[in-house]
Order: sequence, then structure tokens, then C-alpha cells
Amino acid sequence: MTADPLEVYRRKRDFTRTREPRGATPAAGEGRRFVVQRHRARRLHYDLRFEIDGVLVSWAVPKGPTLDPSSRRLAVHVEDHPIEYLTFEGVIPHGEYGGGDVIVWDLGTWEPVHTDDPAAAVRDGELHAEVHGDKLHGRLVLVRRDGDEKNWMLLHKHDDHAVDGWDPEDHPRSVTSGRTNDEVKADPDRLWRSDAPAAEADVSLLPEPLDDDAIDALGELGKQGTWEVFGRSLKVTNLDKVLFPAPDRHRPPVTKRELLAYTARIAPVALPYLEGRALNLHRYPDGADKSGFWHKQRPSHAPEWVGAWANPDADPGETDTYVVVDEPAALVWAANFGALEWHPWTSRTTAPHEPSYALVDLDPGERTGWDDLLTLARLHRTALEHLGVTARAKVTGRRGIQIWIPVVEGYSFDDTRAWVEKLSRTVGKVVPELVSWKWEVKSRGGLARLDYTQNAINKTLVAPYSPRPAPGAPVSVPIGWDELDDPELRPDRWTIRTVLDRLAERGDPFRAVLGAAQELPEIT
Ligand code: MN
Repeated sequence: MTADPLEVYRRKRDFTRTREPRGATPAAGEGRRFVVQRHRARRLHYDLRFEIDGVLVSWAVPKGPTLDPSSRRLAVHVEDHPIEYLTFEGVIPHGEYGGGDVIVWDLGTWEPVHTDDPAAAVRDGELHAEVHGDKLHGRLVLVRRDGDEKNWMLLHKHDDHAVDGWDPEDHPRSVTSGRTNDEVKADPDRLWRSDAPAAEADVSLLPEPLDDDAIDALGELGKQGTWEVFGRSLKVTNLDKVLFPAPDRHRPPVTKRELLAYTARIAPVALPYLEGRALNLHRYPDGADKSGFWHKQRPSHAPEWVGAWANPDADPGETDTYVVVDEPAALVWAANFGALEWHPWTSRTTAPHEPSYALVDLDPGERTGWDDLLTLARLHRTALEHLGVTARAKVTGRRGIQIWIPVVEGYSFDDTRAWVEKLSRTVGKVVPELVSWKWEVKSRGGLARLDYTQNAINKTLVAPYSPRPAPGAPVSVPIGWDELDDPELRPDRWTIRTVLDRLAERGDPFRAVLGAAQELPEIT
């Protein structure tokens, strides 16, 4: 040990280039937390870190810690890390020390065993730790090899928590986000930066929320006016008009002003699902209780900064130019234009014939109960897990559930449609009493339809976080797979009045589909 335990850590980093943090002088404190980070740098390894005297005393374990008492693992003693690194999950830029992706694989508390001075135990080459994590439990022992400074041995004692044959690679998800390394790499929430002290090193990459002043300014406008939002001046109209009937007798109806406030707040979260895609607007200018209509042509009166895409395949008389929401203010513009529902294309404007998602639309029939729909959704979850495919579900805000499966470039809509049909037919065979494959609604006998035909150009599903035209302004909301087992879940559980609180609490479970493009495995 050197006098400054972080000296080695500092020396290894070129602080003019790397974005990893510079540790502050560690505060003295009782180290009782531990973390295991699954770190894909030049090689995959697990970093086992114990909080001791204000720093994270660390070992890199190539094969990972295990509950299996018969396996002894090499653990390379590496430099202490700053305490701020404890819950870090995200990316470290490539080409730098430790460059790669990191998840919080396990997290919990620990107690040193047989000693009150774990730092001395480490110096002496043997640390016994009783750990209480999500995955790891029981007694871990780290022993320095004779005549070796760096190479230690890690083992799990034969105790009540020991599990023969336990392999950490069978438990690949983060305990803090539920995401895999691949999912975090595809769309990291955080990175480290080196030009800030450790306390400020952990930088959020999540979108900036709208500041409250902008919402206050909307509240102060009369029936109409000019709203300064996201750096744009937007003419907003009919602000007091009721657009959604009241959800019940106790709560007020939803005005256009409230819709615009919601749209502005959700826009930074919804934008990644909209940008770079043509947007079909489902307009209800007279409110959700009147009939709506599709509006696809970008109106000539749209401000020039609202994105546009000219469809090269448009026949005469067809929509030739679409709206593209490439910035948050453009979504607010669309909402002011009466777009209650936002339907982005499944393909990007750069490759309109190549879907970026394969879509499963679980479409309930009249006789399909919510439990039936959950059964269908869970069966799809099981099938996708079995196939090793990353996908996410969302409730539609009406009665259904959809599953979005990100795919690599190069598939045609015929490809994704055929794949989803095969998937859904496999699932449907398990519960034939719930599913109809008939085209006509009337011939379905009230059964659910597993609608693979939505995988087609210019057919669209409602965007994540889009409102739906129904009383109370329900919202289509992404859910975690585990929420399919939540008895409180309902397809229209959240509205524009409640979904922002949910987001603050739970984050956006759909982020995993962004950039997690994958090939679709053969279904046999
Ligand atoms: Mn590491």
C-alpha cells in the first residue's frame, strides 16, 4: 500500500484524455458496502470491490465470483478505486484505461470476518468477507498466493449459501437497471469524465428535462399566444379547449394546455423513438370524443424548423412529404396541430424499406380478458428469452400490449413479418383457445389476434409515451418484463397526469431497444 491509495489509480490515467474520474482524497469512514461490476474492457472480467476506509479495494476476477465452493478463482488485486465508482454503470471511452462497458452486476453490504481492520487483513494477504448481495451471499475468502503481489485466490466457503455448479454468466443482468452489458453499451445512461473531481465524474447522458419556467410560461398564456419552448417560438392556440373528456366525475377533463405541457415534458424521453422517422399524425382537433383522422402530409404552414422527409416512392396523389420530429419542439408543434397520437414509421427515412423493429401486436378480441392477454404476453416473453432476443413490451393505453424487437439493418418488412408470424404461431399453439388467426374481426369469435401484419411499410404502431384518444388521456407506456407479473398492471393504467411520476421512479424500460439492433435467430 502506498501512502495515498489512489496514487496508482491517478498515475494510470492520462487526465487530459480519459473521461474516468480523478478521485478526491478519500474520507475516512467505515467501509461496509461492496459491489461487483461486470466490466467488458480488453477482456471480460468482474471487478469485486469492498469499501474499506473510504476507498474501494478491488480485485479483477476474470471468471467472476461464484457461489460454487469447489471452484477457486484467480483474483488479480488491482488499484483502489474512488468510492464514487461504487454504483457506476455505463461506458468508459475506448482507448483509455478500462475502456469498455460496465454494469453493476451485484451490490450489497459486507462484514469483515476475524478482524476489525480489513485494510490490515488485505495487507497481510487474507480477507474473509461475509457478503449480503442480490446474487452473492455467504462467506467469500480472498487469499494472496505465496510469493506473489497481485495474484490472489477467491473462493466461496462451504456454508448455507453455497451452490454447486453456480456460474455468474448464467446471471448476466445488472441488479440496478436489469440491463445486460450489451444493452448498456448500446445506450449508456452514464459515463465517467476525468476533468471533474470524482464527486462530479459520473455524468448523466439522459435527456435534459424541460425546466419548470417553460411550463409556468405556458400557464400564463391566455387562450393562445407564443410559447418559448426548447429554444423555439411556437404559436399555440385554443389552449383552454377540452381535448380529452374527464376520466371520472371527480377529476377535470384534459385541456389542450395540459396536453402541450405533457408533450413538452415527455418530448426529451420520447424523441429517440421518433427522430429520423416519418411521423403519421392521428389528429383529433375537436377532441378525443369526436372522430379523428390520419394526417400524413406535412402542412405547408409548419415552421421551417419542423423536420420534413420527401418520400421518393410516393405516387401522384399520395402523401409526398412527411413530418419528422427531430427535436423536442417539433413534437410540441404536432400536439398543438391536434396530433393526439404519434405514430412513427417502423423504418428510418434513410432506409424506408428496412424496418428497425420487428413488432408483435397483441390485439385483444371482445372476449379476451386482461388475464388472457397477460398469458399471451408472458408466453412471448418466454419465447424471446429462450431465443436470446432483446425485446421490450409496452401497454397501449387502450386494451392491448405490444412487443418491440430491435433488428439490424438489412431486413425487409417481409422478413420481419414472416419471423413474427412464426414466433406468434409457435406461441399460439400453446393456447389455441385464446387465439384466432382469422383476418376478419367478425370471424374471430371474440378471440385475440397476434397481429404480425403490422410489419409493413407505412403501417405504424403508437409511439412509446404517446397519449391515446380516450377519457383522461391514457398513455402507451413501456414496462419491464417483470411487470407482466404485477397484479396492478393494466393496459390503461397510466395517463398524461401520472406517467411522469412513473418515469421519475422507474426510468424508461424501453431504452434497451435503442441501438440494441440484433439479428433474428432461426425459429425451429
Ligand atoms: Mn475492471
